[in-house]
Amino acid sequence: MKRWNGWGDEKNNLEFDLSNTSQDFIESIIGKSTTLKEMTLAQAVAKVPPTRSPEHPLIDTNEEIRLRHCWGQSVPDWLAMRSGGASIFPDGVAFPETSDEVQEILKFAQEKDLIIIPYGGGTSVCGHITPEENVRPVITVTLSKMNKLMALDKESQIATFGAGTLGPDIEKQLAEEGYTLGHYPQSWELSTVGGWVASRSSGQQSLRYGRIEKLFAGGRIETLQGTLDIPTFPATAAGPDIREMFLGSEGRMGIITEVKVRVTPIAEHESFHVAFFPDLKAGMTATREIVQQGIQLSMMRLSNPVETASHLKLAGHDTMVGLLEKYLSFRGNSDGKTMFTFGTTGSKAQCKSALKLTRKFISKHGGVYIGTSLGKHWEHSRFRSPYLRHGLWDAGVMVDTMETCLDWSKVQDAMKGLESDIANSLSEEGENVHVFSHLSHFYGQGCSLYTTYLFRVGEDYKDTLQRWQKLKSAGAEAIVRHGGTISHQHGVGKDHAPYLPAEKGELGIKAIEGMCHLFDPDGRMNPGKLVP
Ligand SMILES: Cc1cc2nc3c(=O)[nH]c(=O)nc-3n(C[C@H](O)[C@H](O)[C@H](O)COP(=O)(O)OP(=O)(O)OC[C@H]3O[C@@H](n4cnc5c(N)ncnc54)[C@H](O)[C@@H]3O)c2cc1C
Repeated sequence: MKRWNGWGDEKNNLEFDLSNTSQDFIESIIGKSTTLKEMTLAQAVAKVPPTRSPEHPLIDTNEEIRLRHCWGQSVPDWLAMRSGGASIFPDGVAFPETSDEVQEILKFAQEKDLIIIPYGGGTSVCGHITPEENVRPVITVTLSKMNKLMALDKESQIATFGAGTLGPDIEKQLAEEGYTLGHYPQSWELSTVGGWVASRSSGQQSLRYGRIEKLFAGGRIETLQGTLDIPTFPATAAGPDIREMFLGSEGRMGIITEVKVRVTPIAEHESFHVAFFPDLKAGMTATREIVQQGIQLSMMRLSNPVETASHLKLAGHDTMVGLLEKYLSFRGNSDGKTMFTFGTTGSKAQCKSALKLTRKFISKHGGVYIGTSLGKHWEHSRFRSPYLRHGLWDAGVMVDTMETCLDWSKVQDAMKGLESDIANSLSEEGENVHVFSHLSHFYGQGCSLYTTYLFRVGEDYKDTLQRWQKLKSAGAEAIVRHGGTISHQHGVGKDHAPYLPAEKGELGIKAIEGMCHLFDPDGRMNPGKLVP
């Protein structure tokens, strides 16, 4: 079972403690911190109020189950679950096993005037699934029992999954048939295919497999107005695409119950590599040229100098890192160097050619290719970083991220502006914030910018939440000011909703509201998220 107040599964109890070197490094930047007192599961369950839900065989009103479906993984969610500070809980959790049962719950919601929150894996980092104050009872509908590969058309390479299927279960069921979806968000272990579609997610290897928009071919959606079946076509010119309406719909228009995705045979070869560039400018030029030349890599990530230095420090292999730094310095990559991680996936011949071409660009821009050892480290730890949040929390440190996507011409200024605004946003309190960024998800036109920040918890939970609010709004305002989208991959939810009009415009917001109203005239589907 998923942890009630953190990341991962309760059984495997995987922790990611901070090494002493890591802790010293963080303290040297933001100062020493202390942990906040936490509530136990029993104490938190005791705070769940009596249910207001009418009885239904598919709805469970048990307090612990309601508590376990109350939060996602945003900082406000994390603080609410650790402190037991939430006051609003779903009144019940529905566990449908078929699309017909989902439709039955929606009919019941209309009959009894209930609010509905669709729930995938609960990994939202923008307040997508947290209930809001409402006079109507709130029912969270989890798709967790709709978790199977339902059909595989090998000729057309289309797989149909129950919308609640988790990342590892998707890959396991496809691997038995020799196929892969290749969609690996960092939250892959705990997020679902329906959630990916509903929040427009992007996987780490989007360069090869594409974002979920490219993988989502059609499916079935249950709405308050009836069932919508979206057929699969390789391409169509038949007017606006209905798939697009539900990509990023965030539970506002209906419940996705079956997802048809485009799959591919498992690649013959895959490996991950690392190179260093002398500075950010060289790294950015090289990566832009690589993607604009169409070299077939499966992933690229360019860490800026602070992220590079932080990762090398936090890697925990001091001797090996020391030797590496000496070698890089000898080759002209010292202070200000940037780390470039990239992947080759495909046939052996294709990977060999992609590596050869990439290395030409690395050399052209003064970079140093160091092979696959750090690439293997990245591959091994690609889904472990979320556990690090536990180690940081125990040291009294909070971590959060902001992400956007911009045209190439705006990227460098945006990175500078975003980082400095976040770093300065707690200066009134005399608090230092550790901020670093990387570029990932590369396109010919631009790339996504992903900024991480670490800060000390405040005196108490309220104070910590206030610190986060300042940091978050500084970051979001900087994104808007620099012409980026408010989200490249995490979606809108509650936390990004105030910034959506800046990119959609008044008429654009009205169009989205119009679609929500068409499917949900009484405003009972996940109110308060995406658009007010
Ligand atoms: C540590 C961490 C790392 C992350 N890394 C990435 C990343 O690399 N890339 C990325 O894109 N995102 C990432 N995320 C964000 C998050 O995992 C994604 O937004 C993911 O797509 C959410 O999927 P989920 O199944 O958990 O959905 P939930 O969090 O359960 O729901 C998200 C939204 O979708 C709606 N929804 C869910 N299922 C359905 C359904 N079947 N029908 C209708 N609406 C539905 C919900 O109502 C809600 O509005 C990360 C999050 C964490 C905590």
